[in-house]
Amino acid sequence: MENNLLVLSYLIGSLSFIIGLKMLGKPDSARKGNLIAAFGMAVAILGTIFLYKSTDGTHLRNLEWIFGALILGSVVGTVIAKRVQMTAMPQMVSLFNGMGGACAMLISIIEFNHIQFLLSDESIFTMIPGSAEILQPRLIVIFAGLVIGAISFAGSMIAYGKLDGKIKDITLPGQQFINIGLLVVVLIFSILFITGNQVESWVFYLVLSLSLLYGILFVFPIGGADMPVVISLLNSFTGVAAACGGFLYDNQVMLLGGILVGSAGTILTLVMCKAMNRSLLNVIIGNFGGSKAGTGGDGVEGTIKEISASDTAMLMKYSKKVIVVPGYGLAVAQAQHACHELEELLEKEGVEVKYAIHPVAGRMPGHMNVLLAESNVPYDKLLEMEEINPEFASTDVVLVIGANDVVNPAARSDKDSPIYGMPILDVDNAQQIIIMKRSMGKGYAGIQNALFFDPKTSMLFGDAKKTLTSLVTELKNS
Ligand code: NDP
Repeated sequence: MENNLLVLSYLIGSLSFIIGLKMLGKPDSARKGNLIAAFGMAVAILGTIFLYKSTDGTHLRNLEWIFGALILGSVVGTVIAKRVQMTAMPQMVSLFNGMGGACAMLISIIEFNHIQFLLSDESIFTMIPGSAEILQPRLIVIFAGLVIGAISFAGSMIAYGKLDGKIKDITLPGQQFINIGLLVVVLIFSILFITGNQVESWVFYLVLSLSLLYGILFVFPIGGADMPVVISLLNSFTGVAAACGGFLYDNQVMLLGGILVGSAGTILTLVMCKAMNRSLLNVIIGNFGGSKAGTGGDGVEGTIKEISASDTAMLMKYSKKVIVVPGYGLAVAQAQHACHELEELLEKEGVEVKYAIHPVAGRMPGHMNVLLAESNVPYDKLLEMEEINPEFASTDVVLVIGANDVVNPAARSDKDSPIYGMPILDVDNAQQIIIMKRSMGKGYAGIQNALFFDPKTSMLFGDAKKTLTSLVTELKNS
């Protein structure tokens, strides 16, 4: 009976993950999808705690430790999630992802210690018939979880530090060779251990240390426009590492959850690589974007034209079509509500308003969608890059709010630019371009933007929220 209930709880968990993931694909169902998946996770965890029985028929012990950790983790997680600023969301994602990797790594360490007494005698691989067949698959999974989990944990911590501005891009001489060398050494020692040729615990801990080092060195040099790909890749690593844990414990829901995270993360990574015109191999050997950041695109100069808030308001009021391009600056200024108010006022004046969403605008995938959803912008007004790009040519005014890299034409034309090859929003095809930002400051990739010097462009300087509020006032008074 208990076993049937346990299987049922895992089935509920698995189904809720699949349904939740599907619902996360659309902004209007995403919140509900998240809750459904969280509910399924709670059912599966409680099922394991109360219904799981080991081979000797006993339930899980140490409940005070289990619930102590659960309560502590829930409280800390809730406080962090509630307090986090919208602009610091990517750091939080990295931090939480790193915790998943750390869990998978710890599971491997614990399971290694469980079977270590068997391994203390090297001859077990040869002298006890069948022991190698039993141990080796387990060891493969333990090592896979250890290596992938450690890389994901260390890499995510560095990604967190970099996104938070605490760690700068660092590239060592011969970085690619060091990284490849580290991976090869990790692979060789893992194989030596698993095949029974070097069955000593120092080998296990060496593999652990080198995997942690690889995770650090792999993320260190990455910067510029390539960070989102790395975060997504690390996320898929964590999924695979968690699936290893599910395999070790013969736990279907953990296995399925890990596979879903791993495959969703891998698909997102590949889609992003394609969108940014980067190869995945370059990501893995850790040399792209960052090392070149700040070099390309500089030397761009010319004269800029400024525009006032009242002239901008009039220009938009008498337009037929306005496209808003939100970027990181909109998130920093928390200007999403003022932006929505402006959109509503323009629509009242008969202006057609749409939003152009670049896949890596802001600092995390989906950043702009989340932000604009918060201010109740209708979802059908948010158009993806491929959809909106052909529309710029028939647009009177493009209002670029705190975006920079995602509208930088150097991505199309300057081969030396760190963002070369990244598809961008073709705002320069519109009749008039208004750029709202505080100064001539650069964006995330650290390069100048020739769009600001385009004869069709006018700069509207100031904090995005204050400027949008002025535009709203001007429109109301006009
Ligand atoms: P950018 O980072 O290129 O530019 C943002 C601009 O906003 C800056 O030039 C800044 O100029 C301006 N700004 C900052 N604060 C304010 C404010 N209070 N009011 C008005 N403007 C402000 O942003 P994009 O969204 O165009 O591009 C995102 C970049 O981040 C890409 O390079 C992307 O690859 C990268 N990235 C994206 C991630 C993702 O998953 N989306 C994750 C990590 C990185 P000024 O200082 O002059 O005001």
